[in-house]
Amino acid sequence: MIIDCHGHYTTVPAEMQTYREAQFADLANVSRGSVSEDITDDQLRESLEGAQIKLQRERGTDMTIFSPRASAMAHHLGSEKANVYWAEHWNNLIYRICQLYPDNFAPVGMLPQFPGVNPKNCIDEIERIVNELGFIGINLNPDPTGGWWTDPPLFDEWWYPVYEKMAELQIPAMVHVSQTTNKHFHFTGTHYLNADLTAFMQFLTSDVLDRFPTLKFIIPHGGGAAPYHWGRYRGLAQDNNWTPVAERIKDSVYFDTCVYHQPGIDLLFKVVPKDNILFGSEMVGAVRGIDPETGFNYDDTKRYVDALGLSDAERTQVYEGNVRTVFPRFKR
Ligand SMILES: [Zn+2]
Repeated sequence: MIIDCHGHYTTVPAEMQTYREAQFADLANVSRGSVSEDITDDQLRESLEGAQIKLQRERGTDMTIFSPRASAMAHHLGSEKANVYWAEHWNNLIYRICQLYPDNFAPVGMLPQFPGVNPKNCIDEIERIVNELGFIGINLNPDPTGGWWTDPPLFDEWWYPVYEKMAELQIPAMVHVSQTTNKHFHFTGTHYLNADLTAFMQFLTSDVLDRFPTLKFIIPHGGGAAPYHWGRYRGLAQDNNWTPVAERIKDSVYFDTCVYHQPGIDLLFKVVPKDNILFGSEMVGAVRGIDPETGFNYDDTKRYVDALGLSDAERTQVYEGNVRTVFPRFKR
């Protein structure tokens, strides 16, 4: 089985945006509404059949671990209460899709984060989606402020309530930001990759993974700039008596293969242990065009992994085995 660990519902019906705008228009009086119940099964099918499902078929992948659209999380907008409803509706849609297409999608949820609000406000939703809806993981936004990083870093005890719940429920988190309002940072070109590297360094420089030894974090987009500068991080760890990088990430930190060219994938596999790499494409996502140098979509990452010349055992590990290790609740 070829499992794509990183897919978002980027083709959601427009009703969701209308709902969000109605929240913004009257934040003092938000009510739950019923948008995720009102969208029909036919609408869900129509939004997926010509996109994610078609691409799965064309590219030869079997299953996508599927979560709400990352840009739509927009935790910096809304209010604490508005974002509780927003996350609930998004997660309900993901649940319904996974019920409609159990062979194509497995559910990962977004959290009702809001800047300055302790993430323990996410516990109810984590329990609901895992215990009641069968979700197998969460996306954790390390910067709900949208590019200003004024909430505590990932090693701060601010985040411990979420970590404790993750450990209890045996679910991993993909560390995934949303939009940015900081004009210095392009959304998917800078902010995403900054966040990936920031998370990596926060794990490297702290004891949080010792405190929570069973937790598993996926750093998307190939780990940001981390693999390219692996020598720098190994050297920093050595100079500062931090736990060596390979030991630090072992059984705890994983990178996906959302790197959109062959030399990048070659490098990723050259420097990062294969135990720490999960196949992912993030389709349909940030980069949708065709690479004129290859004639194929940039985000058709399976082509790059296939071209590595891995052994059968290594291929199985990256396409399936590691995903099953990271997502113990994934049972197909
Ligand atoms: Zn993503």
